[in-house]
Amino acid sequence: MIEPIKRDLVFDKTADLNWKLLLKESVTSPEQLRDYLSDEEIEECKKVIERYPMRINPYYLSLIRYKGDPIWKQCIPDINELIDVEGLEDPLCEERDSPCPGLTHRYPDRVLLLISSQCGMYCRFCTRKRKVGTEKLRISMSQILKGIEYIANHPEVRDVVLSGGDPFLLSDRKLEFILTRLRAIPHLEIIRIGTRVPCTMPQRVTPELCNMLKKFHPLFINTHFNHPYEITEESRKACAMLADAGIPLGNQSVLLKGVNDNPAIFTELNQALLTMRVKPYYLFQADYVQGSNHFRTPIEAGLEVISALRGHTSGLAVPHYVIDVPGGGGKIALIPNPVVELTDEHILLSNYQGKTFEYKFPAKEQNGNGKNGNGTHIETPLLEKSAKLPQS
Ligand SMILES: *Cc1c(COP(=O)(O)O)cnc(C)c1O
Ligand code: SF4
Repeated sequence: MIEPIKRDLVFDKTADLNWKLLLKESVTSPEQLRDYLSDEEIEECKKVIERYPMRINPYYLSLIRYKGDPIWKQCIPDINELIDVEGLEDPLCEERDSPCPGLTHRYPDRVLLLISSQCGMYCRFCTRKRKVGTEKLRISMSQILKGIEYIANHPEVRDVVLSGGDPFLLSDRKLEFILTRLRAIPHLEIIRIGTRVPCTMPQRVTPELCNMLKKFHPLFINTHFNHPYEITEESRKACAMLADAGIPLGNQSVLLKGVNDNPAIFTELNQALLTMRVKPYYLFQADYVQGSNHFRTPIEAGLEVISALRGHTSGLAVPHYVIDVPGGGGKIALIPNPVVELTDEHILLSNYQGKTFEYKFPAKEQNGNGKNGNGTHIETPLLEKSAKLPQS
């Protein structure tokens, strides 16, 4: 059943909208969705948002083309969120790997720092859905300052990823204060901001924000587009302003059943992102998070997306397909296995068209009689090693 919703009726895209007004006029109660939902669905929605909050700003709402479309599924609460009890509350163990509240130090040289508890839209599949937009994610400035102090005291940290919630939900002034403190740390080389704002509330990207951000280079932004419907005049403008401020832009998508689990969608999305100077960086397997089981796809879906991109279109359009594994193991990349055969003599590899090619190894004698170039004996049988090859 397809019910088109006219974008122009709910959102005048010619108006110069202030993002604070967009936030104020966001849908937060099911009653505001009378035009979209039946009475029964409104009752269900009420139950869902008692547990997981809803916020849909008028811009994002206006992107819905029909009931149940890829925009709808990302923002409208679904009773399945309550039915699903399989996933974990904090699958990535972000809280366990946290030396101080809001900071996760999992990798040797970089940390994740949460600086905002709010987003311009609450995604129904969010990894931190147990917390974002609720009392459970209270982030005070004193907590942020403790996180910054931790970074200052750990010279091995050369990269910080600012996240939340969405860092761009903070005021320019607050964000500038945090960035100034971080930039004062000599060993902190790069600062990254993870924000969905260019996609879900592009009006937040103003000339003032961009002028402020460009004082803190090298600064990177990773945004989060999941579907071509999210690419609009407004989101193009936001990305152009950020790129013009000299900020390299990346994109992190989440593979979502019924939203974008289709190679054609990703080809279109990633090619469009490149035209906006946004480089597809990660494609995430949906996390094992409670309340989003209905979004999870088999691994084959992700591998198919990567196979459809690699070789067929610009290498720039190919993201790393990763699973952020439950238990705090971090992100692990998966690629379609191209190894057809691996022996002492050669490797047979399958290319993007499915044709097989051979690459010959140097003859044994030249290689020091079963020793490799460094003269170290290879203990692991090659075929066993081949199982490890498709990594990276
Ligand atoms: C994703 C993530 C990072 C950054 O990882 P990159 O692979 O460098 O982009 C850092 N810390 C944590 C806890 C993360 O989840
Ligand atoms: S914008 Fe990011 S942090 Fe906010 S709800 Fe969506 S996925 Fe979660």
